[in-house]
Amino acid sequence: MDPKIALGISACLLGEKVRYDGRHKLDRRLRDGFGQRVRWVPVCPEVECGLPVPREPIHLVAARGGVRLETLETGVDLTGRMKAWARKRLAALRAENLGGFVFKARSPSCGLECVEIHSRSGAVARRGAGLWAAAFTARFPLLPVAEEGRLRTRAAREDFCRRVFALRRWRDLAARGGTRAALLDFHARHKLLLAAQAPVLARALEALLARMGNTRLEAVFDRYGALLARALAAAPPGVKERPRGST
Ligand code: SF4
Repeated sequence: MDPKIALGISACLLGEKVRYDGRHKLDRRLRDGFGQRVRWVPVCPEVECGLPVPREPIHLVAARGGVRLETLETGVDLTGRMKAWARKRLAALRAENLGGFVFKARSPSCGLECVEIHSRSGAVARRGAGLWAAAFTARFPLLPVAEEGRLRTRAAREDFCRRVFALRRWRDLAARGGTRAALLDFHARHKLLLAAQAPVLARALEALLARMGNTRLEAVFDRYGALLARALAAAPPGVKERPRGST
């Protein structure tokens, strides 16, 4: 297994000049602050689905039958192109064994939450996720994800890192084929994180371990892993729940 954790990221945040205006949005705190244990996997959905740099800006439009991705001035509908590309890219990303994803905020493609969705008149009709972020979280609902805007403080970045690394340690343990003692040890090392992150799920994990008795170990690991992933993927207390998989 790769000793580094693979983290997906909107490519412009790593300094790639892929934005509509030919610029980047390098975030040094992200690039430099995650240490040597991370292998970034940059993704720019707009360029990877075949749009040029520079290009006409695009936006989300509320339409009958769903949200459309359209060019701002000329109204070219890019929804089908983006969704077709996303299906292929998501399949390829499975091989990367990602530990999480950091999205660029406010983008109609990459924004995870609160992206403006306009009516035909141009007013903001509602807010939601960008097309790529929605497709990603629908395909990988149990991965820790965050917008870069949520990771501006050191505390927020550390919280995100703790969740990503906890998931990695769990995957390593499950891959090795753990024992009951190893499971209890894992839980002891992470229970404070889990209690702070997702108190209700943390109590469910405690209850699971308390009654595991002679239950088949494989079943306990499966159930524990499912609850753990939900806890680590949940928005931390005080942060509005993310609209996963929706626009
Ligand atoms: S926000 Fe997403 S689509 Fe836009 S330039 Fe950055 S990576 Fe590309």
